[in-house]
Amino acid sequence: MKKRWIALLAAALMLLGCTGKTIGVENVIPTAKIEGSSLYVRKVEDLPDDFIMGMDASAVIAEEQSGVKYYNFAGEEQDVFKTLAENGITHIRVRVWNDPYDKDGHGYGGGNCDVEKAIRIGERATKYGMRLIVDFHYSDFWADPGKQMVPLAWKDMDIDEKSDALYKFTLDALKQMKREGVAVGMVQLGNETNSALCGESGFENIAKLMKAGSRAVRKVYPDALVAVHIANPEREGAYDGFAKKLRTFEVDYDVFASSYYPYWHGTLDNLANVLNGIAEKYDKKVMVMETSYAFTGADTDFSGNTISDETANIVKAYPFTVQGQANSVRDVIDTVAHVKNGIGVVYWEGTWITVGTNSREENREKWEKYGSGWASSYGGSYDPKDAGKYYGGCAVDNQAMFGPDGNPLESLKVWNLVRYGNEVEPRADAIADTVLAFDLKGTVELPETADAILTSNETVPVPVVWNVTEDEIAKMYTGGVKTYEIRGLAEGLPARALISMVNFNYLKNYGFEDGALDPWQTEDRGGADQLYVENKLTDSLNGTYHMHFWSAKQDSVDFSLFQEVKDLPAGTYSFTISIMGGDAGDAEIYCYALVDGAEAGRTPMRITSYGNWDTQTVGGIAVGDGQTVTVGVSVRCTGAGNGAWGKIDDGLLNRQD
Ligand code: CA
Repeated sequence: MKKRWIALLAAALMLLGCTGKTIGVENVIPTAKIEGSSLYVRKVEDLPDDFIMGMDASAVIAEEQSGVKYYNFAGEEQDVFKTLAENGITHIRVRVWNDPYDKDGHGYGGGNCDVEKAIRIGERATKYGMRLIVDFHYSDFWADPGKQMVPLAWKDMDIDEKSDALYKFTLDALKQMKREGVAVGMVQLGNETNSALCGESGFENIAKLMKAGSRAVRKVYPDALVAVHIANPEREGAYDGFAKKLRTFEVDYDVFASSYYPYWHGTLDNLANVLNGIAEKYDKKVMVMETSYAFTGADTDFSGNTISDETANIVKAYPFTVQGQANSVRDVIDTVAHVKNGIGVVYWEGTWITVGTNSREENREKWEKYGSGWASSYGGSYDPKDAGKYYGGCAVDNQAMFGPDGNPLESLKVWNLVRYGNEVEPRADAIADTVLAFDLKGTVELPETADAILTSNETVPVPVVWNVTEDEIAKMYTGGVKTYEIRGLAEGLPARALISMVNFNYLKNYGFEDGALDPWQTEDRGGADQLYVENKLTDSLNGTYHMHFWSAKQDSVDFSLFQEVKDLPAGTYSFTISIMGGDAGDAEIYCYALVDGAEAGRTPMRITSYGNWDTQTVGGIAVGDGQTVTVGVSVRCTGAGNGAWGKIDDGLLNRQD
């Protein structure tokens, strides 16, 4: 009798093992508009009902272990996954690292996201009617375009052994999820795998690994979508090149996913073009797998953020406000929803907030103990170059959709409101910086209006009062070339003017901000593939335009860029200009000045790597009455790698005497 019971019990357990647990689902995703919000949201037209509204919530468990509490809009403590679902989130994304612990069991941080944590998060997501997007990094810690380190346990394996291990790891992780009843909607074959995966950089090997992962997904969750994920849609041809290789090596996948961080990743139009191209040509679903936007420039956890008010050379198309964050998300959703086969947008990562103490020291204890910072000191044993040096807290707490106190921000409702629109009366949300330049010998005149950015992201001029004395302005004339920051108030909001005192510049369109070449000229001796004025803020020294050059063939980068200036007052002048670039090979680059066609001086320049501007000056240019001055840059590169490339910006022709 007893034996029979045991046999029955074993049979029942086996059955349970096969079919898995069933999680009781309390579907709280709203099917109607959330009413009463002050958030301005323009409706996204023709938004499919099944459009994926995703939130990466990978660090939640480490956050909770650190003492973080999350609240709902009524101010009550509530499971953060329920709050996400109640505001229209349909999918929860979670990163999975193979083994993010050192040999003594200390977590590397970043949420210490292993399979176990993904299951716990998956259970909670499933409970509230959402699906899980499993983001396998196939690494023991962060994988992105900059690094794709192999898991320690796989480091001595050859590619076949590694593919086999990856297959088994994926299969095992997903089987565990299935057993626990987790609703998996999508699985990623690596994270931002632009040029490497799991320590492999050759595409044949990358494809082999991806195919192994894909096979495992198809076996355990045949209804789940299989996704590949890369970053940098702004790099011309990069996505098409990647998709082409996936096709060549016959990788089995459904979704081509992109990161899209508006600060760096080009325009929404470009994103739409690139994703449309993939959908058309390769017949794949497309989506944005990571996006985010700052609701404040301030840090809240005593550990510096990726983006702040001081971050230079980023595109800031919306103010860093709760409304600005919502507008950015709305526009990304609008873009993807109107792309062919566009299936969704996922936010990274809206629940990662400060662990909440009043000092860096106390926070650090929690980051170290629970892994709630981006990296703990223990991460250095695996990743000495990055985690080992810069470990600390959260770098995106100012981009979360919860405030530092754990309360949801009004912007969280955007995921629901985009479906219906919530076009409340627009009001001033922030005041745009007023940027001015004055000649040291001229007059400083402060404008009476500043541009208010409305909640609808439109701009209107409003009266402004600057907080500056006559004395302070008088001092600007004697302080030399310098930039001053002045504060003010407009519509009750803080305003800021950045005032540059400059020497008069005799060059026109000096930084290409007219968006055209004129009156600059080029002499293209080498027949370069690309030589034009480019609109790309992140590649400009100042403003959004610069002169761009690139050419694939050896010796084809050989040109001069110059401007002629007539009718200068007689005197002594200096000419200054800046250049950056790379892959120059042997190169001769210099800035120069000619007076009536005769050389009046030249100064060598060099290009080294991206972002390293070289600024040089030709001084002592003596100009007499009626003489014509020509100033310019001569660039000649043999080219290396994929061809020499570079950017030229901000020519200055100033009086020296
Ligand atoms: Ca921070």
